[in-house]
Amino acid sequence: MSEGTSIVWFRDDLRVRDNPALTAAVRRGDPIVCLFVLDDESAGIRPIGAASRWFLHGSLAALAAELDELGLRLTLRRGPAERVVGAVVEEVGATAVFWNRRYGEAERTLDAALKSSLRDAGLTVESFQASVLFEPWTVLTGQGGYYKVFTPFWRSVTSGPPPRHPLPAPTATAAGAELHHRRVDSDDLADWALLPTRPDWASGLRERWQPGSAGAHERLRSFLRSAIGDYVDEQDFPAEDATSGLSPHLRFGDISPFEVWHAVEQHRARVPGDAKGASAFLRQLVWREFAYHLLYHLPTITSENMRPEFDRFPWAEPSSDELEPWQQGRTGIPLVDAGMRELWQTGVMHNRVRMVVASFLVKNLRVDWRVGEAWFWDTLVDADPASNALNWQWVAGSGPDAAPYFRVFNPELQASKFDRHGSYIQRYVPEAGTDAYPEPMVDLAESRRAALDAYATIR
Ligand SMILES: Cc1cc2nc3c(=O)[nH]c(=O)nc-3n(C[C@H](O)[C@H](O)[C@H](O)COP(=O)(O)OP(=O)(O)OC[C@H]3O[C@@H](n4cnc5c(N)ncnc54)[C@H](O)[C@@H]3O)c2cc1C
Repeated sequence: MSEGTSIVWFRDDLRVRDNPALTAAVRRGDPIVCLFVLDDESAGIRPIGAASRWFLHGSLAALAAELDELGLRLTLRRGPAERVVGAVVEEVGATAVFWNRRYGEAERTLDAALKSSLRDAGLTVESFQASVLFEPWTVLTGQGGYYKVFTPFWRSVTSGPPPRHPLPAPTATAAGAELHHRRVDSDDLADWALLPTRPDWASGLRERWQPGSAGAHERLRSFLRSAIGDYVDEQDFPAEDATSGLSPHLRFGDISPFEVWHAVEQHRARVPGDAKGASAFLRQLVWREFAYHLLYHLPTITSENMRPEFDRFPWAEPSSDELEPWQQGRTGIPLVDAGMRELWQTGVMHNRVRMVVASFLVKNLRVDWRVGEAWFWDTLVDADPASNALNWQWVAGSGPDAAPYFRVFNPELQASKFDRHGSYIQRYVPEAGTDAYPEPMVDLAESRRAALDAYATIR
């Protein structure tokens, strides 16, 4: 063992399995500081929303327990990450820092600056691929650009070598010595107040989610056991438990996409009858990759229309009172209200219904997609900068490979197709169809026409 100390800086990778940064630190053999920094201050880094904070609390608590079993300890600090990591390096006299890569522009800028200043100071600094299956700079078109359309992107990634196999959790034996942690002051997770108190709106989240790796792997196992075979036929039906529910776990890295990919491949080899479902599911997982690739190559997707003509779109400018019916699920359109209430109660919403509520906001109410994106950012436990922005732009028609603007989802038709027995609506809007339920806040046909007229002005 050398005389140094290694720091593993955890970010969107809150797990010990398939964590290349942690594995590298263990291999090095020095005492380790496992650090997480809550950064709400660095320029350009978007503070995470309230529902994500709730999930983060659980993932951090679970990670601390997993590290504890390895003989390591999670150190928590709060503040601008560059300063905080620099301070911990000083405090412990660190000789090496390891982390897994991030893909947002502000995050990359921060990481690059830190890497170069630490290297200048003589430290070993290494970063690893852990959160995406394919690095964005490795998937390029014949002309050397990035893909703006999903299907060729999918073809390209699936015609190359498969994603690497996941790494096991590090062990003392693999390191050839005991794992040592370096004692250093840590904040108390409870003091970060990531959980809501007054009011405590998280009871539905507690019922639905078990943040952390154990919860993620249990979800994956249960999906493979009972749902993947029917994924193609049932994934669009919000009343069914037909999708994996892995999105928040992938967001915080409780589980890695490599673990998911290979578990699905192994399942496909064992149960050939589920092959169609497995392919369809991996295709969805690759939508997440596509979103991260776009975020990497075109960082403005989070805030700017990808199609510039949308800069001229005559969006309505609703007051917060006018937005409330949509946010609170009181629009008088049952499928929209069911989705918005599902979101409020559970921190997620079924993908089909996300498209419907987004289309209703952007088209029937003609509200700028960024307003909806911001609400989702605050209320989704899986809110992620790449997928959220890409999907909002997809629905709005302002994105690449997007649904055309004139495709306005009709929530009533969608309900009759995808919630045939009304059980999803009944679950979240039991008063639908009674006097207690409000009249529709807009006429669907009329508002659709107005949306198309508005669109005609920018074509
Ligand atoms: C307006 C809108 C906003 C969205 N915002 C987010 C977001 O902030 N974070 C997020 O993870 N997903 C977002 N999605 C995509 C999708 O709705 C969720 O990923 C999905 O509902 C998660 O449920 P699941 O894990 O059961 O999905 P499954 O069907 O089990 O899919 C497996 C995984 O594939 C990925 N995936 C599936 N569909 C998509 C998609 N359309 N785009 C990107 N990745 C996908 C997710 O990581 C998901 O966990 C959004 C969709 C819309 C229409």
